[in-house]
Amino acid sequence: MRKAAFYTLGCKVNQVETEQIKESFMKQGYQIVDFNEAADIYVINTCTVTHVSDRKSRAVIRRATRRNPLAEVVVTGCLAEIDPDQIKAIPGVSLVVGNQDKESIPELLGGFTGQEAHRGSTPLKPVLFTSRHERTRAFIKIEDGCNSYCTYCIVPYARGAVRSKAPHHVQSELQRLVDLGYREIVLTGIHTGLYGYDLKNTNLTELLHLLLAEVDGDYRLRLSSIEPLEVSPQLLDLVKREPRMCRHFHIPLQSGSNTVLKAMNRRYDRQYYRDLILSIARQIPGVGITADVMVGFPGESEADFQATYDLLAGLPVADLHVFKYSRREGTPAALMSGQVEETLKQERSQLLLQLAREKHLQRLQDAYHEVLRVLVEERIGERAYSGLSDNYIEVKLESCEDLRGSFVWACITGQEQGLAVGRVLDRQV
Ligand code: SF4
Repeated sequence: MRKAAFYTLGCKVNQVETEQIKESFMKQGYQIVDFNEAADIYVINTCTVTHVSDRKSRAVIRRATRRNPLAEVVVTGCLAEIDPDQIKAIPGVSLVVGNQDKESIPELLGGFTGQEAHRGSTPLKPVLFTSRHERTRAFIKIEDGCNSYCTYCIVPYARGAVRSKAPHHVQSELQRLVDLGYREIVLTGIHTGLYGYDLKNTNLTELLHLLLAEVDGDYRLRLSSIEPLEVSPQLLDLVKREPRMCRHFHIPLQSGSNTVLKAMNRRYDRQYYRDLILSIARQIPGVGITADVMVGFPGESEADFQATYDLLAGLPVADLHVFKYSRREGTPAALMSGQVEETLKQERSQLLLQLAREKHLQRLQDAYHEVLRVLVEERIGERAYSGLSDNYIEVKLESCEDLRGSFVWACITGQEQGLAVGRVLDRQV
């Protein structure tokens, strides 16, 4: 039996896509092995969102070519899309595949005649998993691509314009995952909030209504990141009323300075973001709101940074993903004057990370005495388990029973090492 090994760098969408590629290899009779083992084929799904991602992607490719010089090394993902020549130049690389063809790698391998980079405009295919890879949570890629062209971001060049998966395909994927026993399904994409933009007659909220009406079973849905301008009143209303929707929004801010937001080509201002977050918190009690924020965008002054810090400090945001601006060739921001020194980026990033830690601890404190529905995922000790609440709090629970894969109601009684501690009230298998 031929063996195939996989390595994924970067975002959740890449991870979902690697699972899809694995599935297609399995259907062709391959055995999937660990990346550190000898394999006949290595598939590396690269990322190019920062310089560090580029470097790591190249290092992993070299590792694969060294591990088995006779193996076929296939490179796909955003770095392969943006700079195929750089990848082809690495000795030992057999095939370079663009993002839109990555799901057809086994077929391409069958017929390839040398190193090629493919760039089509193929519709998103449904993926009907035949086996359960993880225990509790699964992901469905409902959308790919982005039309927004934020001036710092390479992603629209690497992924192309928005392409949405047909609603009935998302529905059949979801039903399959629920039937396989997954309890939480995350709907993900590159620009998830633009779901349906290319299909014309649907949008994200309509898709959610369809899924919740048509797919039976004991499951919940979580949305991945959604842009501020795409959080509609209809979406908020659905999350407020529907217990199967997780009360969690990840809403990128990027900057709290209107000058910087404009230079980033982000089409909202700080007031809009502030009003949105406060309105969500008012309408959906207990909601978990998390955010992305970037430091060191070209021209970001001390006052701009302070505006970002102050805005976030005053909002009910539970956690922050802090990014340092990374200059990406081919984007408008790479040519902007006022590039910020690395040391200053580092300082600003540290300040926001400290704020994120404080906010996280405050959130755990605020959750005391709340009763939350937790999906138990892992055993973390002799009789200890950890799981995630719908509103994105990681909870530690004690139990003599193996709770993994179940929903339980738990009352939050304290906190320990960054986790909320909960007491199990009831178990729902
Ligand atoms: S919305 Fe902006 S940051 Fe997000 S993928 Fe599109 S261009 Fe990049």
